Amino acid sequence: MERNAIAIAWALAFASAAISAPVPLLPPDAAERIASKNPRLFALLAADGEVPAGFVARTAKAADPVWHGGDSSVETAAPVSKDDLLVLTVAVRGVARYGAEPKILVKLQGSDWAGLIRSEIPATGEWRWVRLLGRANKDRAAGELRLHVYPAYCCQTFEVRALKLENWGAAPKESLPPLPDVPPAFGGEPPVPPDAPPPPPPVTLSPLSEADRARPRRVVLKLDDIMARSYRRYDRVIRFLEEKDIVAGFGVIVSSIESAPPGYVDWLKRNARENGGRIEFWNHGWDHAMDGKTKINEFKGSGLAHQRENLARSQDVFLEKTGLAMCAIGTAGNSWDADTSTALSERPDVLVWLYGNPKDDAGKIVLRRTFNLEYAVGRISFEKFAEGYVKHRLDDYAVIQGHPNMWNDASFAAFKKIVDQLLADGWMFVTPHDFATTP
Ligand SMILES: [Zn+2]
Repeated sequence: MERNAIAIAWALAFASAAISAPVPLLPPDAAERIASKNPRLFALLAADGEVPAGFVARTAKAADPVWHGGDSSVETAAPVSKDDLLVLTVAVRGVARYGAEPKILVKLQGSDWAGLIRSEIPATGEWRWVRLLGRANKDRAAGELRLHVYPAYCCQTFEVRALKLENWGAAPKESLPPLPDVPPAFGGEPPVPPDAPPPPPPVTLSPLSEADRARPRRVVLKLDDIMARSYRRYDRVIRFLEEKDIVAGFGVIVSSIESAPPGYVDWLKRNARENGGRIEFWNHGWDHAMDGKTKINEFKGSGLAHQRENLARSQDVFLEKTGLAMCAIGTAGNSWDADTSTALSERPDVLVWLYGNPKDDAGKIVLRRTFNLEYAVGRISFEKFAEGYVKHRLDDYAVIQGHPNMWNDASFAAFKKIVDQLLADGWMFVTPHDFATTP
């Protein structure tokens, strides 16, 4: 649209709706105020002729505390009534050094205004117009509205100019003049984004003293998700356990045993500690159901009757097929509710509850989670493990969870290095049942 056409459309909109001119809400020195409130984040640009003074914001994740709390506010210069149309217009350009889709986040909100208006703008280095609209949810005096502008991602810089916050009163949204078709042409070189902060130095695990090494401490390898279709992926773990002469607990999702080939049942029997193997199999539920949409899991929100049935079925069918009694449970996603405690309290054959409910333990030994083997499900890094482990090296016990069916070679190598570290630190590898016999 040509400029004249925009001007005519705007004039017509005013005329037809009898809309009064918008009231500017930002004080003329808004940019200066923002910059002075948060100088770590905002650096003020020099005033630039007709263009209102802009400012530049930067962030460098991790090394810079503004990453989490990076925002700034500015008091408004005029009052606002309930349902007034608030309009933020701003020209923005951003440049990012790393990352595929860097973005800037611009928000408009009040200090107690639940309704949040936000827009994510790709940091492409080009100037863009951004407009955010919202209705005030109540009357407020000057000073209550806030503008938040912050860079939401690592190592990027953005530049803000022509900042305008206006109160359009009762005007309908459709009556606003369109934003110009062309991006603003403020010129100048785009701001230079900061470098990534140097990575934090790796956690070093210095050798423990003889006395510390000798302190009795027990660790359980809680390795989940044994089922008929993928149990062979645990073979290399078992070979490693044999090599190190240690044991582990494997969590079985029992339902797949019903139609499994006989090789699976043989494998379970052969590797069970009861039969001279390295593994204590524990109950990881009947079907491992986890519904991301409804948030109903096998042992959370599914109801007492369902939990009772799945608990009984998994315990009983496993015993029937393998001759092995499982004495421990760990639920799918480690999620549970009050019904889980009730259902478990009715099962004297279950003695240990891995990552269970410590406040309502159903008379079981609840073993808690402290540090992690995997930093994300199925992924292991020795360095990330060490960050969590360093604070727990002298704990009485640890239960560390992993998913060997998801490990790639790098994760498996990291797993082996972690086991070696724990052995060097004097930990004793045990299974859940050892806690039942020696609490
Ligand atoms: Zn699982």
